[in-house]
Amino acid sequence: MSSLPQEKIALHWFRRDLRWHDNRALHAALDSGHAVLPFFVFDRAILDDLNAKDDSRVTFLHDRLTSMDGQARAHGSGMWVEHGHPLDVLTSLCDRFDVAEVHTNEDYEPYASKRDANVREALKALGVAFHTHKDHVVKAPGEVTKPDGLPYTVFTPYSKRWHANLVEADLKSAPSENHLDALVAWGGKDVPSLQTMGFQRSAIEAPEALVELDVLKHYADKRDLPATRGTTRISVHLRFGTVSIRELAKLGFKHSEKWLTELIWRDFYQTIIHAFPHSAKDAFKPKYDRIPWRHDDAHFEAWKSGMTGYPLVDAGMRELNATGFMHNRVRMVVASFFCKHLLLDWRLGERYFAEKLLDFELASNTGGWQWASGSGCDAAPYFRVFNPTSQLEKFDKQLAYVHKWVPEFGTSRYPAPIVEHKMARQRAIDTYKQALASG
Ligand SMILES: Cc1cc2nc3c(=O)[nH]c(=O)nc-3n(C[C@H](O)[C@H](O)[C@H](O)COP(=O)(O)OP(=O)(O)OC[C@H]3O[C@@H](n4cnc5c(N)ncnc54)[C@H](O)[C@@H]3O)c2cc1C
Repeated sequence: MSSLPQEKIALHWFRRDLRWHDNRALHAALDSGHAVLPFFVFDRAILDDLNAKDDSRVTFLHDRLTSMDGQARAHGSGMWVEHGHPLDVLTSLCDRFDVAEVHTNEDYEPYASKRDANVREALKALGVAFHTHKDHVVKAPGEVTKPDGLPYTVFTPYSKRWHANLVEADLKSAPSENHLDALVAWGGKDVPSLQTMGFQRSAIEAPEALVELDVLKHYADKRDLPATRGTTRISVHLRFGTVSIRELAKLGFKHSEKWLTELIWRDFYQTIIHAFPHSAKDAFKPKYDRIPWRHDDAHFEAWKSGMTGYPLVDAGMRELNATGFMHNRVRMVVASFFCKHLLLDWRLGERYFAEKLLDFELASNTGGWQWASGSGCDAAPYFRVFNPTSQLEKFDKQLAYVHKWVPEFGTSRYPAPIVEHKMARQRAIDTYKQALASG
């Protein structure tokens, strides 16, 4: 590390916006008239909770920050990366430098909202301004509301209002990439290694940050077919902001309304988690917390390892374990099987996804799981139970996806179903019915 700045500076705090281009908070910081020190914190509060030492998200972040540090150095600057608690890092940065203001992009999840409120207070006490900016959604929580000002809890009217409320500014780029000469000139310092943070490299590779126009063109027809390249696989990049949502939304407007609708689902779930933070842990509809979930370790283990005897479920779980990704249609099937056929608590399934998904995002994950369990906003009625065998016939008729992930399917090595469909379906309906009627 060398030549630390003496003059007044601004800080840009990177979180889920790991890119130099079209980054609103970074753009505002670069526009502040102060030289900008870009920094990132590997947050101990999050990292300490991760079970796997080769966690794929930590590797992804590490690779990305190393490459961003290289890009910053090419501009005579560098990324300030620390492993610690954000509040401690920020206060020590304010101690060390003459900080005029801190910029960051908004994050609507419960932990982040609390963290940012604490940071705001602490910076205020130090006389440092804290500016947050909308960046990782097109429409932020509070921007798409019912006429009475309350948040929508049903997707279709939300989506209509999303379109109606859209203004040019929502999609306007913030050309931060053109102002990188305003980064603080300093010698840089090493990004902490995975090992010093107690991690190892994961074998899981992220897909490229590229939306193929050919995929968008056929999206409406192919998006439900897990054996084809029918969806974009851009989710991890949206999660960590290595792509700009505004650029993607513009592609959606131009090439696929159907795909744009999926991006709007993402905004919708951000709104839900912000307005109803309890839904991260408890049923969105409280009466669903009365369901007497079964406790069955053997079934939970069979589901996790892709050994349920239902080939579409098993293929999905094995894809997840091997790649950190699962196709959306299959996520719906395995989650429904978990909550309905196995009658296991959706929270356990949600936590397993949270551990394994490279694109894990609390809002979409709890949204998806609560949709499957029936307890969520806008969920299907509880008595609609996906049949995993007819889902297979509909979406992987040629068994291409199943053969890829479950090569022993059709041989004596493949397990028999751990539950019988008809019995399990009826058991779910009866249990839900009774629980929802009580109290
Ligand atoms: C049980 C369950 C859990 C899920 N957990 C997550 C999660 O942790 N993180 C996550 O990003 N998505 C989650 N999803 C939503 C969806 O499955 C993934 O976003 C999608 O499979 C990612 O693949 P893709 O990038 O190829 O999607 P595409 O079909 O190409 O869609 C483009 C983008 O739109 C967004 N999107 C698509 N579908 C949804 C949806 N139903 N809800 C919200 N956003 C959506 C994603 O950001 C996605 O990358 C979950 C869905 C279910 C049913």
